Amino acid sequence: MEYLKDLLLNIFIICSPLALYYYIYKIKNNKLLYRFCLYVLFSLAIITTMSFPINLNGLIYDFRSIPLAIGSLLGGVQVSFFLYATLLLCRSFLNSPNEWLYVISILPSFVLFVYLSKSYSSLTLTQKITAAVLYCTLIKLLTFTIYLSYTGQIELLVNRPWDTLQTYVLQGFIAGVCVYVIEMMHRFFIMQEEIARSEKMKIVGDMAASVAHEIRNPLTTIKGFVQLFATADLDKDKKKLYQKICLEELDRAESIIADYLSLAKPDPEVVEAIDVHQEMHYLANVLMTYANYNNIQIQVMTEEEQAFHIQGDRYKFRQALVNIGKNAIESMQSGGLLELKTIIRDQHAWVILSDNGSGMSSDQIKRLGTPYYSTKEKGTGLGTMVSFGIIKKMNGKITVKSEPGAGTEFNLIFPKAN
Ligand code: ADP
Ligand code: MG
Repeated sequence: MEYLKDLLLNIFIICSPLALYYYIYKIKNNKLLYRFCLYVLFSLAIITTMSFPINLNGLIYDFRSIPLAIGSLLGGVQVSFFLYATLLLCRSFLNSPNEWLYVISILPSFVLFVYLSKSYSSLTLTQKITAAVLYCTLIKLLTFTIYLSYTGQIELLVNRPWDTLQTYVLQGFIAGVCVYVIEMMHRFFIMQEEIARSEKMKIVGDMAASVAHEIRNPLTTIKGFVQLFATADLDKDKKKLYQKICLEELDRAESIIADYLSLAKPDPEVVEAIDVHQEMHYLANVLMTYANYNNIQIQVMTEEEQAFHIQGDRYKFRQALVNIGKNAIESMQSGGLLELKTIIRDQHAWVILSDNGSGMSSDQIKRLGTPYYSTKEKGTGLGTMVSFGIIKKMNGKITVKSEPGAGTEFNLIFPKAN
């Protein structure tokens, strides 16, 4: 019973870094911070497993090699070096004997890791699991063999073969399961990113026609004036006026293109303070071409006495709002009005998008945000899912009020940035 309790405790300790792995994965682009967090989590696991060893009928052992192996495989050589160092320090704090002998005993497994570490990330799932199980077993076996042969106790290794074998099998099994879980989480995160990216490109594609259409107007105007310049005998003032109009039209085309392009901005996530009012105007600008194309008016109302900042990735936030705004426009088949509002209340920003389009029944509202739910012929059913994901990541709340035939209102509530 005591054994089982210790065992469960150790499994819990080893699995705890996995529970936080999502947060570590999120910062993977910041290499230094990513490695530091990996180090902290796995070194804590090493220290705790060493502090609570397991007693199997008098055979005392612990699972230190599991967090050591997995942390090393995930973090690479630098993380591995610090994990090994932490293990040695912890051992010295626990007053275990023969410090230097232990350093020498464990060194070969570190050297082996440095030699093999580069190829780990390119392995397949089964190969990764096998590598982790083998490496884990090797750390323990290699260290013990060297250590015990120096102290003249090598017979301890084979004294109780069944108990010893049990510890190796158990350790290998836990390491294998951990790697499997981590790899599955990896795949899930990558798939989510992939969906968000493909949805973004779909939206950019959908809006391309309206942008092209919108740019044609200034071009036509400019073309007319350029022709006028060449043929007519214009006085100075007229020339100036026409030139001014041409420049204004060019500016307009330029800003339409700039807004449109920033929609398709690349991915690296940068969390910063975003001014909601400013973003509302951006949203209106970027949706304007699509709205005009669909014969829809846009009205912006912002409480702009002062800037109000919320926290998040600017481009992701834009993507979330464009998805919702685009749905609103698409719901108004025969023209209508899209209202974009920001209200500041109790240290929170309310971002409100309302349309007077087709609306939704309560069943349809419930299905919003679930993958592949779409009522459109060419819909992907991923837009709201991606948007809701982004908003929730920013600690935002979403409420939807809608009535079939009357229209829909999306309320997005974000806390103030610290
Ligand atoms: P898609 O736009 O590709 O269909 P979304 O996830 O963006 O996928 O939207 C899912 C569904 O939710 C839409 O097909 C539509 O039926 C409904 N929907 C979303 N927003 C609105 C809205 N403002 N008015 C009416 N229906 C909406
Ligand atoms: Mg959509």
